[in-house]
Amino acid sequence: MSILIYGGTIVNEGRTYRGSIVIEGEQIARIKEGEDAPRGNYDKEVDATGCFILPGVIDEHVHFREPGLAEKADIESESRAAAYGGITSFFDMPNTKPGTCSLETLVEKFELARQKSHVNYSFFFGATNDNSVLFRDLDRHRIPGIKLFMGASTGNMLVDRQESLQRIFSTAAELGLPVMTHCEDTRQINANMQKARTEYGDDPEIRLHPMIRSEEACYDSTAHAVALARKYGTRLHVAHLTTARELEFFGQEPAITAEAVIAHLYFCDKDYETLGALIKCNPAVKTSHDREALRRGLVNGKIFTVGTDHAPHLLSEKQGGCARAASGMPMIQFSLSTMLELADEGILTIADIAALMCHHPATLFGVRERGFIRQGYAADLVIVCNDRPWKVTKDVIQSKCKWSPMIGHEYQWRVRQTFCNGHLIYNEGVFDENSSGQEIKFR
Ligand SMILES: [Zn+2]
Repeated sequence: MSILIYGGTIVNEGRTYRGSIVIEGEQIARIKEGEDAPRGNYDKEVDATGCFILPGVIDEHVHFREPGLAEKADIESESRAAAYGGITSFFDMPNTKPGTCSLETLVEKFELARQKSHVNYSFFFGATNDNSVLFRDLDRHRIPGIKLFMGASTGNMLVDRQESLQRIFSTAAELGLPVMTHCEDTRQINANMQKARTEYGDDPEIRLHPMIRSEEACYDSTAHAVALARKYGTRLHVAHLTTARELEFFGQEPAITAEAVIAHLYFCDKDYETLGALIKCNPAVKTSHDREALRRGLVNGKIFTVGTDHAPHLLSEKQGGCARAASGMPMIQFSLSTMLELADEGILTIADIAALMCHHPATLFGVRERGFIRQGYAADLVIVCNDRPWKVTKDVIQSKCKWSPMIGHEYQWRVRQTFCNGHLIYNEGVFDENSSGQEIKFR
């Protein structure tokens, strides 16, 4: 099958230019600059006039909830939501049931995804207090790296022993595996929660969430992770940064980087008034001052990647306050459209978006032949345009949980087409059910 995409503007590797792309089978066969499309006989031609063509997004941070939590979400439903949102590859986190902390559970996840995923997939291996001995048996070509919860969150995978942390950072460094951390100091959070409960009752109201999951708890834990990474020479990537203060650690050493996720770039503490616990996540959405600093971080080199932390729960689980409501929200379907909105506000350019969401996740984790528009690379592409504003309603939501904090929001940008491995899996509202993703290879 050969496909010609013509008439559009290609966004790739810092450049934005008119051009056309030829797909042969699963790969990008040719990229031609300029207005004129290469002549030839193609099985399909896609007119991208007025649109931008980006590499398919690599979402390095999702929770697709399988196995064990499939009432919230599953690999089939969430990989479909990904395709609708222009995401062609995802790395799933290990806090499932059982947790992905053994070689057996890792193999089971690969098998599940092989059967069910519509887009390309891989899985972080979860660190525990005592499993770093298994790191040596991991296949470096199959996984992005190690996920380490230095703070407790959904699915309690907290690693809190100093000697365990030292072993994890030193072993990962030896093996050249990146460590991606969730940084929040659980002891401080527990103390803050205790205090809030004495004052406000068993389930403190949601506006207190960023005071309980506090700036200090984030800062101290991130400082700890950075110190360990410097000591052992570990490739450290701190997930979902939420505070202006933590940014001081990033942007100087190439081996120590940070991720921002859509919720913290888009929402701030004022939004608890209208959205309540729907935007409860860990670490918490913090102040508008923090949000502005994170947004500046997208262009000043302090934030290296943008993921979603797509973490669906049932709507019934998102009720209540700081203690009762579940933490996490679905975000994968609207992440690219949301980032494009930030570009319209002048916060960053569309080329920056391609770097943060496509190129950098690929280079950081050593993804093979994806994340860029290059000849011979997988034909993972997304076509976006802003010709027709649209509103998020329940019926457009593909996530199994069927709610989103973005319901009612009007977007200027939409994903028009998504190609995954040369296959047009999403085309203006029409989804190819039979499409399946591939296992991502590394290094
Ligand atoms: Zn997460």
